[in-house]
Amino acid sequence: MTTPTRDFLQFVLDASFKQPECWQLDSGLQAHWLAEGVLEIQPAAPAAASRHVLLSCGVHGNETAPIEVISGILRDIASGKLALKHPLMVIFGNPAAMRAGERYLDYDLNRLFNGAHQRQPDSREAARAALLEQSADAFFAKAQAGAERVHHDLHTAIRGSAFERFAIYPFLHGKPHDRAQLGWLRDGGMDAILLHSKPANTFSYYTSNRHQAHAFTLELGKALPFGQNDLDRFRGIDAALRALLSGNAKPVADFQNGDVPLFEASYDLIKHSEAFRLHLDKNVLNFTLLPDGFVIAEDGDQRYVAQGGQQRILFPNPGVKPGLRAGIVVAPAVLQD
Ligand SMILES: [Zn+2]
Repeated sequence: MTTPTRDFLQFVLDASFKQPECWQLDSGLQAHWLAEGVLEIQPAAPAAASRHVLLSCGVHGNETAPIEVISGILRDIASGKLALKHPLMVIFGNPAAMRAGERYLDYDLNRLFNGAHQRQPDSREAARAALLEQSADAFFAKAQAGAERVHHDLHTAIRGSAFERFAIYPFLHGKPHDRAQLGWLRDGGMDAILLHSKPANTFSYYTSNRHQAHAFTLELGKALPFGQNDLDRFRGIDAALRALLSGNAKPVADFQNGDVPLFEASYDLIKHSEAFRLHLDKNVLNFTLLPDGFVIAEDGDQRYVAQGGQQRILFPNPGVKPGLRAGIVVAPAVLQD
């Protein structure tokens, strides 16, 4: 079928298409709507072993700026203004939460990957996580051996950050970090990069671990409602993603220590009980430096104390359910490999 606008974001917000659809775009390319909010577009003549790019946004429904950035990229691919050289899957992560303007409805979708959805079968997000895993599986299964697999999961954070834009590099189980990918993140405007040190139930860890994708969670600023975002602040990543898709990227110099600050996770603050108390202002910025000896949080008899004066707090959120992560304590890191 054809449609005059092909505004895929509007399709999601209007819940227009919950079943598979296929459209011929003005650019001549075919767009395949595989499931609600899951779109695949193949280039006209992909090179053998072409890079496969998965872009996801709206995994947290109220993080609107990345949704608008990806929507703009899709619009330009649809019109032909932006050439598409590589197979592309775009995922609008949590359409129901996007429509409600909420982070999630029943359970944080970005804690349900890696099979964790099976432990929360009653949440509306569980079925969605399973569907997104299957969608990523099917997409990357089509990549030939040797084809680069890339996944950027775009977010904005609940709070402001001492480093406005930062990337999270999922745990690689001892494999070396890719210096070209780190260089791409640097050139895309990331102000800091966190090298995660253990598995996580996030979408980017899933594609990294399952499909050996170069997968990253990108935190691109503070979450604001639709229409209130200053999209100028997202120009760097917008340009980098467009270059990635169109094959017009300038050569990227390998990342060197010192290019942008690197951090590694020291440990998670786990909220074990409702007695959990976080001793940080509710407006504290991500990556706020923690003085040596500072008591970060208490939970019954357990105390979390900052050590060394170089640790910083990331994603403090005492409102999570008991058993979940209420923050990450991070420390400076250098690339060894
Ligand atoms: Zn998010």
